[in-house]
Parts: sequence; C-alpha cells; structure tokens
Amino acid sequence: MTDGPTHGFDTLQIHAGARPDPATGARQTPIYQTTAYVFRDADHAAALFNLQEVGYIYSRLTNPTVAVLQERIATLEGGVGAVCCSSGHAAQIMALFPLMGPGKNIIASTRLYGGTVTQFSHTIKRFGWSCKFVDFDDLDAVKAAVDDDTRAIFGEAIANPGGYIMDVRAVADIADDAGIPLIIDNTSATPYLCRPIEHGATLVVHSTTKYLTGNGTVTGGCIVDSGKFDWSASDKFPSLSQPEPAYHGLKFHETFGNLAFTFHGIAIGLRDLGMTMNPQAAHYTLMGTETLSLRMERHVANAVKIAQWLEQDDRVDYVTYAGLKSSPYYDRVAKVCPKGAGGLFTFAVKGGYDACVKLVNALEIFSHVANLGDTRSLIIHSASTTHRQLTPEQQESAGAGPGVVRVSIGTETAEDLIADLDQALTKATS
Ligand SMILES: *Cc1c(COP(=O)(O)O)cnc(C)c1O
Repeated sequence: MTDGPTHGFDTLQIHAGARPDPATGARQTPIYQTTAYVFRDADHAAALFNLQEVGYIYSRLTNPTVAVLQERIATLEGGVGAVCCSSGHAAQIMALFPLMGPGKNIIASTRLYGGTVTQFSHTIKRFGWSCKFVDFDDLDAVKAAVDDDTRAIFGEAIANPGGYIMDVRAVADIADDAGIPLIIDNTSATPYLCRPIEHGATLVVHSTTKYLTGNGTVTGGCIVDSGKFDWSASDKFPSLSQPEPAYHGLKFHETFGNLAFTFHGIAIGLRDLGMTMNPQAAHYTLMGTETLSLRMERHVANAVKIAQWLEQDDRVDYVTYAGLKSSPYYDRVAKVCPKGAGGLFTFAVKGGYDACVKLVNALEIFSHVANLGDTRSLIIHSASTTHRQLTPEQQESAGAGPGVVRVSIGTETAEDLIADLDQALTKATS
C-alpha cells in the first residue's frame, strides 16, 4: 500500500509504514531482534557512517521494527518523520536536546503531566536549561515570557489530568512570531482526536506507553517532526543549521532539508543519549496502533457517560471533563479535538483527601495505578502520588488538588464502571 493522503485514519493506523517482510513475506511486521546489521562491504559501511546512505548499522540508532512504528506515528500525526525512544520522558529530552544549550529556556504550560512539571522544574537545570511556567489561557503572559534565550514553547493539547484543552493555534501563532518551535505533548489526545501539526505545532511528542500501545504493556516515546520549521532562519538553532563537528562539518538542515530534525534525532540524539526504543516495545505499540481509533471512540463514549453520571451525583462536588457542557473548555473541544475530549478527567469527592483515599481503596474494576490510556479503567489520587513532588500551588494549577481523583476511563461496559463507582462512592462518603 502507498500511504497516500487519500487513505483514511482507520486504514493508515493498520498499514502506514508496514509492508510484507521482503525476506519471508511475513504479513505482520517481524520483531527484528538484532543488535547489528551486516554491511555489504567496507564502502557501504563508510557511506552509512558518513550519513551518505540511509540504512541499518546498530540498533541503538535504527532498527527495522522500530522504523515501521516511526513511519506509522509520523503518518498518523501528519509529520514528515519521527524518532521513537525509550519513554515519553525520553522523548521530551530528545525533542529539546537539539534546540537547547546552557542558558537557554523554554516556556511551558502550567497544566502538564506531573512528571513533566518535575522534569522541567528541576532535572533540566542540570543541563543549564530552564523553564518558565505560564497559564496558556493568558496569551499576553505567554508572549511576555518569550525572551532572546527562549528556544521552544511546550504544552499538552488535552492536558493530563485536569480536563484542560489548549488553544494550540493561538499559542502556535505566538511561537511563529517569536521564530521558535511549538512542541505539543499529544499523549492524552492521540492523533485520532487531535493532530497538533494542523493547528501549527512544529513538533509532537508522545508517551507511546499510553493510548498508542493501549494495553499497559511497554513504555515508549516518540517525537514527530512537522518538517515545517526553518531552522536556518535565525542563529538560534546552531545544532541544526551550523556545521556538526561529529560528522565532518555536515549541516543537518542544509543536508537533510525538512528531515533535519529527524536525522539529528537519530544520528546525534539516539547515538549519544542512547534513549533507544527496543524492537519488542515497538512490536507491542504497533499492535496497539492498529486499533487506536476504535479504542479512542469507546474511551470517549464511556468517559462522557461516566462524567455525566458523576456530575449529577450528590456525593461528587464537581467533574472537570472538557466533554461536559459545564466545562469552560467545552467550546474549545469543537475546535481542537472535535472527535472528543479524550478519556481522562478528574472529579472531586465530597469529604476531600480522606474520601478520595477510601474511594480508591473500595473500587473493584478500576485499578489503582500510576498509568493512563489502558483498555482497563484506572484511577489515581494524584495529590498523594503522581503530583506528590509538586507544591500545593502547582497541584492546584495542574488540576490535581488533594480532594480530586483522576480517572482514565477504559473500554469496558460503561454500566459496569458506573456501578463500581457507585458502590465505592457509598463506602467513601458514608
Ligand atoms: C505518561 C506521560 C508522560 C511520560 O511518559 P513515560 O512514557 O511515562 O515516560 C508524558 N506526558 C504525558 C501527557 C503522559 O501521560
């Protein structure tokens, strides 16, 4: 199959990037469980090492199973290329690495996955990078935060966990004016619900651990490049526009054009940071992508039913799901993710912290885990777990205060999930 733009999402999620195995005809993509690849001869090896020819050298850089997944995710997101890596957090570092240097900063939304807030508040400082957190609904504040050392803007299309929808286009316009890329973490939305590149994003990052794999089996990450950013328009991105000493002075942008970021991610990022996705993980995620749209439809349908049921229940204070008419972000859903606001939301239980802890303990179908995007329904009390490292102010602004729980609604029978919540709420609040 050729991956023409004429094919629908449901077709591409199964076929993009894959072709029958040339050696055996195997219809499913084989797991190429190999570390290295035999060179045809010494000239072939030299050409590969000089980046004059594309091919397989060593699985820290490239692997055929991983390559299929890269092409598939790039196609689903409408990008020109993608680099897979070992986790979502690895993808974030890999996305920033070519853009940043000591003294440079990024601007990020206050509404982010808790682990990302920690990574950006503390860990990136070890590289001499810093992050300014800004409320992305205050566009003037985003604009004002950009300075000469800002190298990227970072946000989540559907923000985990607080039911927030980002106006991706409005922030993309600010990034464009500043001549810097917008990076969107599209983990919670998936390309089925939102394609950030169509809203002006330069790069899209994923924790493929979540919905793309869908079964809670493996960790992985991915960075997709739109191919639309002009890395040579200013002197801000020397890693991409200037000679690279580790490749005899090759200039990535000049040499690889709109694939510069992708090639850099493999040839420098994976080569030297080593945050590689293994072929087994790529296999599980490829299996997951085949049913992505089917699962997302059910995740959304179930989330709407359950959020509506919780909202009218007296034991619940409020529900933050952008798919509810009561949400301040309800109108933005139609613009940013018209097929639905995803499968994640939070709700506040009457009785605060203690009631939340009791609820989590009493549930039988919902699993109490630090994960999301599984076919199974999951629940977590963010304030005592994923958002524990955050200050109370950061918890509140991330929508993860002490009295709320976050659910990742699975694809089970909605009525069963409602019955489970019903019995657990009784135990939690009586
Ligand atoms: C889980 C998650 C991450 C981190 O991904 P890992 O695969 O756990 O490293 C980043 N962003 C979002 C939105 C996530 O849900």
